[in-house]
Amino acid sequence: MSAIQGRVVIISGPSGAGKSTLVQEVLRICPLPLALSISATTRAPRPDEVDGTAYHFLTPEEFERRRKAGHFLEYEEVFGQGLWYGTLEQSITDGLEAGQWVILEIDVAGAMTVIDRIPDAITIFIHPGSMQELENRLRNRKTDSEEAITKRLEVAHHEMANRDKYQHQVINDDVKRAANEVSTILQAAENI
Ligand code: ADP
Ligand code: 5GP
Repeated sequence: MSAIQGRVVIISGPSGAGKSTLVQEVLRICPLPLALSISATTRAPRPDEVDGTAYHFLTPEEFERRRKAGHFLEYEEVFGQGLWYGTLEQSITDGLEAGQWVILEIDVAGAMTVIDRIPDAITIFIHPGSMQELENRLRNRKTDSEEAITKRLEVAHHEMANRDKYQHQVINDDVKRAANEVSTILQAAENI
């Protein structure tokens, strides 16, 4: 008899919607065996980000080497400007084989690639409430330059326009309430 396989959970939504904050709360409260996939990126680490925890921070050359070697399940230049992000196959296979539910926090384009390859993935779009609220959160986070915020808001319009492609949409108006909603969605999917 084969071991119990885990599930893939895709969480998307515009930068600044609160995905990382929400996912940390879901990991804390949800009784399922959840694990977060650590993506690779070529963007520079923020002051509080630890390599191997927030992301695997790679040079463009190393990212390209791994891409050519076929290490990525998907990869996207999310904000243009040479900023690459990708899901490493290894980041999910270990978890799935151990029966874990592996969460991918990725953009809409990357999500579509994963859905093609893993059709039974659970897909959840995180909505910031409004574009004004999204802008406020990006500014209050104080991690991005004015130029980067403009680019992120531009990409956000495209992400929001694709939200109906997801099985579930959750409004992150309040982190604890939204985390409970995500946890309930996942538990309801347990027997599907
Ligand atoms: P993302 O991972 O989607 O880019 P973050 O988790 O970094 O977003 O959140 C962006 C900013 O918004 C952070 O400063 C975070 O503390 C704040 N934030 C997250 N969720 C909420 C919420 N429900 N209400 C108000 N601020 C929030
Ligand atoms: P940030 O630079 O704020 O950490 O992430 C910006 C955006 O990149 C996130 O909102 C998320 O949508 C996207 N992202 C993060 N990791 C990945 C990944 O591995 N693949 C893809 N396609 N997008 C990612």
